[in-house]
Amino acid sequence: MVEQPYQYRRRELAEPDWRRLPGWAGVTAAEWESAQWQRAHCVKNTRQLRAVVGGGLREDFLADLERDQREQATMSMLIPPQMLNTIAPDVPASCASFTDAWYADPVRRYMLPVFSDREPQWPSHPCAQRDSLHEAEMWAVEGLTHRYPTKVLAELLPTCPQYCGHCTRMDLVGNPTATVDKHKFGLAREDRLAAMLDYLRRTPGVRDVVVSGGDVANLPWPRLESFVSALLEIESVRDIRLASKALMGLPQHWLSAQVQAGMARLATTARSRGVSLAIHTHVNAAQSVTPLVASAARAMFEAGVRDVRNQGVLLRGVNASASRLLDLCFALLDGAGIMPYYFYMCDMIPGAEHWRVTLGEAQDLQSAMMGYLPGYATPRLVCDVPYVGKRWVHQAARHDTTRGISYWTKNYVTALESGDDLALSREYPYYDPVHLLPADGQEWWRAQARRPGLVA
Ligand code: SF4
Repeated sequence: MVEQPYQYRRRELAEPDWRRLPGWAGVTAAEWESAQWQRAHCVKNTRQLRAVVGGGLREDFLADLERDQREQATMSMLIPPQMLNTIAPDVPASCASFTDAWYADPVRRYMLPVFSDREPQWPSHPCAQRDSLHEAEMWAVEGLTHRYPTKVLAELLPTCPQYCGHCTRMDLVGNPTATVDKHKFGLAREDRLAAMLDYLRRTPGVRDVVVSGGDVANLPWPRLESFVSALLEIESVRDIRLASKALMGLPQHWLSAQVQAGMARLATTARSRGVSLAIHTHVNAAQSVTPLVASAARAMFEAGVRDVRNQGVLLRGVNASASRLLDLCFALLDGAGIMPYYFYMCDMIPGAEHWRVTLGEAQDLQSAMMGYLPGYATPRLVCDVPYVGKRWVHQAARHDTTRGISYWTKNYVTALESGDDLALSREYPYYDPVHLLPADGQEWWRAQARRPGLVA
């Protein structure tokens, strides 16, 4: 008898009881459901974390966290109560295993990375870069990345209500950390947003705008509504996607009366003009999908958005197994009506090697997920190849598994390649984590590292 590799079970969503944490023992449901209360009580340092968990976390864990902030972190600490409450949801802070449960927890592993999580020998890949996707090089105007022929990414602001340890935009997003200073926009926000709209008005080939950041939940609602309203006035724009991890991390924001009413106005206009208005969120673990997250998604559907889709990130120790990915997809789909859409391989930013998987692992995961979810809700696992863009993980032209280098081609040119006759035939490299390579591959990289300036 052959066992089914994955067993589907319908799970009821549950909001973990925040009152199990000593610092929030007296917090009422009304406070918890207030976006203002959530924002005011975000945890930004170990002192605040201690105050929430009481004596629950051992000192060695807190020292591990502080060491990471001092020596490795590319993102500063910022986690809303809603997200923190989903860490080790079933273990009371008074339990002896509380710290161990935190060490092992998937949400903790990417939102509050500790020094001992990092890969000791190769914490960063030799080819890692701060702006690993070279988005700033492709800015048509400041903050507007024009990488694909028909679509653009508009980075409206450089902040989020939560900071993820693996953030791809670590170059730009968030506060400086002990080791990473952040790039600053040169133009004032109003001038930058006006320049974006001006570019889109004179570039009718762009039909699809990802309105992002950062996280649009950090833009004052009237400012976001006026930017999206201006986009809706541009006849050539047919797709608008608002990027907000806060739909999961701070669902209270999307449930506020002001935001619901504003989204209803935007969705009505979008529908009348035949434009698809959707929300893209970022959920990496099934336990993050709680009833409040489902309510926020439902509120957006009731406001009239076309869809709410999830773009997760494939992270070792968080979700890099078929069962975890499928559990997450079913929680999104069954519990919240959120469409599983993409899982990106974690980008090659500094400090990410312990999270990253090899291309071969990603291909195996994609294959293992096929056939369980409806076809329309089966997410694609994609590799965002520098200078190329998103490619399905099975699209590599070739893959040297000893040195961990895959080679990719592209089928469109960006402004960067105009005049480059080889743009469509060149192979662009992407790299597996060195510590996962066979011994001769690792030795090859050690030799490379001894010869500065040489990159494969
Ligand atoms: S929400 Fe997105 S932009 Fe913000 S820190 Fe997380 S990954 Fe980066």
